[in-house]
Amino acid sequence: MTGSRRGPGLLERLEAGPVICAEGYVFELERRGYLQAGPFVPEVVLDHPEQVTALHKDFVHAGSDVVEALTYYAHREKLRAVGKDGLLEDLNRQALSLAREVADDTETLLAGNICNTNIYDPADAITLQQTRAMFDEQVGWAAEAGADFVIGETFRYAGEAMSALDAIRRAGLPAVITLAVGRQPETREGWTIPDACRRLADAGADVVGLNCIRGPATMLPLLAGITNSVDVPVAALPVPYRTDPEHPTFQSLREPEAVPLPDGKPFPTALDPFTCNRYEIAVFTRSAAAAGVRYLGLCCGAGPHHVRSMAEALDRQPPASRYSEDMSKHAFFGTDPVLSSHNRAYSEQL
Ligand SMILES: [Zn+2]
Repeated sequence: MTGSRRGPGLLERLEAGPVICAEGYVFELERRGYLQAGPFVPEVVLDHPEQVTALHKDFVHAGSDVVEALTYYAHREKLRAVGKDGLLEDLNRQALSLAREVADDTETLLAGNICNTNIYDPADAITLQQTRAMFDEQVGWAAEAGADFVIGETFRYAGEAMSALDAIRRAGLPAVITLAVGRQPETREGWTIPDACRRLADAGADVVGLNCIRGPATMLPLLAGITNSVDVPVAALPVPYRTDPEHPTFQSLREPEAVPLPDGKPFPTALDPFTCNRYEIAVFTRSAAAAGVRYLGLCCGAGPHHVRSMAEALDRQPPASRYSEDMSKHAFFGTDPVLSSHNRAYSEQL
């Protein structure tokens, strides 16, 4: 089935070269004023579908090869938490339909999406059954919508990632499985990251790797350990924030001089001063590719300019590259002879 509608599928594209997958829908739609921080439930899919479609188009315009349906946190547990269980199926089907339309129009891949359930507890057998049922229903809707593959993402427990992988494989679809690594470079049950990724690959994941939580600087050092441990393509989708060894995750970033923050820390609504610029994303992209990473993207906090920078670092020219900067034409800092020397002489005063 893969590739029957839109040419080459995910695995064929990965054979040919890197694949870019833009993520971070929840944070970007929160910034734009269409989604509430805290719950982070994507009701925007039903309330303002045109905004979701617009962001899908923005990310493809910037170079994403994948349109990922916005079903992150559109699962039974999260909708129950906000008292909207009744929206579950409509929200999932609508999210898939919006993504499919853009994928069809742009000849990109349609990805379904499942994620951390927040109920999974390896010591509680009931939660394992509930997790499995949640994955099965969401993967079922993705399969019915004709998804080219399904992304299972942001898992702290490798066991939960295994359950997601199992659901995707039983639906007969390719699986991209990415783990979210906290302050300790291990899964929540204590497996090393290379070991967890190897076990996921051995269990049939088509792509394994990391997404979210860590920024480029603290995700990059973990990548070679993964690429050296598995034979399948490896994924890396950091958050575009300036994490460092002392603050390896975006939740652990601190800003002592800041005005009072709602929760006493920048996460999640005051991370702006930590945002990576586009050139830092280009450096990360080249470094990750050199470490053997084939499936590249960005997670929470990413904007289209970051995605374009990633694409250009891979020597691509997405449609948005038509508008990439040309400072030679800047009125004060430019070098073009048509510019006024009167203004150029003033540039030092700016
Ligand atoms: Zn994220």
